[in-house]
Amino acid sequence: MERAARVLPGGVSSPVRAFRAVGGTPLVIRSGSGAEVEDVDGRRYVDFVCSWGPLILGHAHPAVQAAIVDAASHGTSFGAPGELEVELAEYICSAYPGLEQVRFVSSGTEATMSAIRVARGATGRDKILKFSGCYHGHADHLLVSAGSGLVTFGRPSSAGVPEAFVRETAVLPLDDEEGLASFFRSHGDTLAAVIIEPVPANNGLLLQRPEFLAMLRRETERTGTVLIFDEVISGFRLARGGAAEVLGITPDLATFGKVIGGGLPVGAFGGRRDLMSQLAPLGSVYQAGTLSGNAVAMSAGLATLRELEKQDGWSRLEAIGHSLADALRPVLDAAPFPVRLVRAGSLFWLSLQDGEPPRSAEAIAPSAAKRYTPLFHSLLDDGVMLAPSAYEAGFLSLAHTAAHIARLRDGVERAVAVSAVAA
Ligand code: PMP
Repeated sequence: MERAARVLPGGVSSPVRAFRAVGGTPLVIRSGSGAEVEDVDGRRYVDFVCSWGPLILGHAHPAVQAAIVDAASHGTSFGAPGELEVELAEYICSAYPGLEQVRFVSSGTEATMSAIRVARGATGRDKILKFSGCYHGHADHLLVSAGSGLVTFGRPSSAGVPEAFVRETAVLPLDDEEGLASFFRSHGDTLAAVIIEPVPANNGLLLQRPEFLAMLRRETERTGTVLIFDEVISGFRLARGGAAEVLGITPDLATFGKVIGGGLPVGAFGGRRDLMSQLAPLGSVYQAGTLSGNAVAMSAGLATLRELEKQDGWSRLEAIGHSLADALRPVLDAAPFPVRLVRAGSLFWLSLQDGEPPRSAEAIAPSAAKRYTPLFHSLLDDGVMLAPSAYEAGFLSLAHTAAHIARLRDGVERAVAVSAVAA
């Protein structure tokens, strides 16, 4: 890490990796296999981060490896149309509710940024609405009350973002129908888009009440506002059709990343044909990418999705999540301080405060994060890796076995005792 810090700011390529929120020295990972990783000192860990979501099959899955090697042996990228991008696009369109066309990019950030540009182009309006605690990547106009690394570091926004850019972004709390109705009464007709993580997973796991999301769909429809579901985490994880399928709500546009790239840099945004045909070369909304749709990344995504289909992956992930909840329940119930498991399928989070788990960023008790640090380090000492931030969700993969879950349960049992003494 000393060597890294000389040439990489903070020694990392993405900020939360630096362990600043929990203290200590980050693990430097050399390899991964299934649900486990090994660091450069040869220590092994059960991994509940899974590269922050993409590795839904676990590390170095043989089918994904084979697909990558095969694709790479024919050349990596051509800057021209290819068969694999068509196959992946056909799959995404057939799987996701209401989605007719999709465009590939190389990250979730590009996906949300471009989806908003499409919405602005299609509506001729500039303003957008987001919800506090929802993270949509690091495009300027979305770095407002954005959860993820920003909440980890206690910052509402980022330096370097011009005031004028964020002026077009309104922010409301989640879980507040009255606030939403009132906002739409006065500003609904000026909005190009509302963007939301339908299962917000970047500021804890803030499960929304169906009534709130249903109202959002109604109000956006009534005012001709484009509803964008940011499914970069939830897409192809919670179900084949993402959170849209689980919730029974079809957005106008959706954004993807993580799982659809199988561990390589891929993002995508898509939706109804009339909206997507705003994009160049059909329409006047410009968007492009040198490596977009490249063969290697497409092959990793396709192999991952095929494996999920083959293994009945989404039901199995739900079952693994269920067994995690069953295993942790007695340990958490017996803890000498409030701690609850919040779970949506293969996503989980520990809520460390009294009462029902929070449904908005504002409802998270500031003291909760302090409890997390000793818990995190105790687990790490036991060879169990959770995200190095109280606000990030945990990820399960098809490679997590009963033995891995037992390791987490035993680790949490010990960690809870340590944490009770430390706090
Ligand atoms: N949207 C959501 C919901 C995310 O969780 C993330 C990343 N964690 C992004 C967008 C941005 O994706 P990327 O890091 O690939 O740019």
